[in-house]
Amino acid sequence: MMFEKHSAEGGGPVNVCGVPFGGGGLVIIAGPCTVESREQLLESASAVKEAGADILRGGAFKPRASPYAFQGLCSEGLALLAEARELTGLPVVTEVLDTRDVAEVAAVADMLQVGSRNMHNTALLKAVGTSGKPVLLKRGMSATLQEYLYAAEYVLNAGAKDMVLCERGIRTFETVTRFTLDLSAVPLLQERTWLPVLVDPSHATGRAALVPAMARAAVACGADGLMMEVHAHPDRALCDGEQSLTPEIFFKTVGELRAVAQALGRSI
Ligand code: PEP
Ligand code: MN
Repeated sequence: MMFEKHSAEGGGPVNVCGVPFGGGGLVIIAGPCTVESREQLLESASAVKEAGADILRGGAFKPRASPYAFQGLCSEGLALLAEARELTGLPVVTEVLDTRDVAEVAAVADMLQVGSRNMHNTALLKAVGTSGKPVLLKRGMSATLQEYLYAAEYVLNAGAKDMVLCERGIRTFETVTRFTLDLSAVPLLQERTWLPVLVDPSHATGRAALVPAMARAAVACGADGLMMEVHAHPDRALCDGEQSLTPEIFFKTVGELRAVAQALGRSI
């Protein structure tokens, strides 16, 4: 057997504020990498809502490689996410970086994201698991699927009822793309666990031009949803502008994804 025992068997349907994951419908999570300002967030949020996104994303606490890069608006960013939810009616998912911030983020977010850089942070995994909030756990960029499933079990064992996984690319020798999108992880994880599996083609490729194609491939291989970065003005983004779709391209991409999903008996 490839994986050791997993307790993640036979869980219930995963639900985030009425958005069901893992059924016939695919879930589209979209929004800017980072909450930068009120105007930027609200503009991007209305655009993704209009294009058919189910959940709004946006980082308030950002895990940046450089300590000199913009670190996010933190508490102020959370307040803006709450305002964007009010405006659009979309549930919001945002990343939590530190156990000390879980209560504050959980007070606002509808879903807590644990990012790639924190997948091995067992204290954080347990803290989000006890928060009572749905959790989106991204794959560590250098994590094996076995390690990823163990990380998921930390969250589930702490009490999480609603959790989804997200393949976001792994580090390989290739440097043309930001990471290498491991789509085989999707059917493999689905074989080993009941957890819905999403794909993030934005961080995986690091290039907006590649995102629509890899998003279509993700739907074709059976992903239960997608997370994509969309910015009303990618050229002005403070973070990840080069991998962010414009609202126009996002709209077109969702239409293509719908066609692929329909061909497989699923819906968007
Ligand atoms: C993100 O989704 O905002 C993010 C930082 O992604 P990852 O953790 O996959 O790098
Ligand atoms: Mn990003």
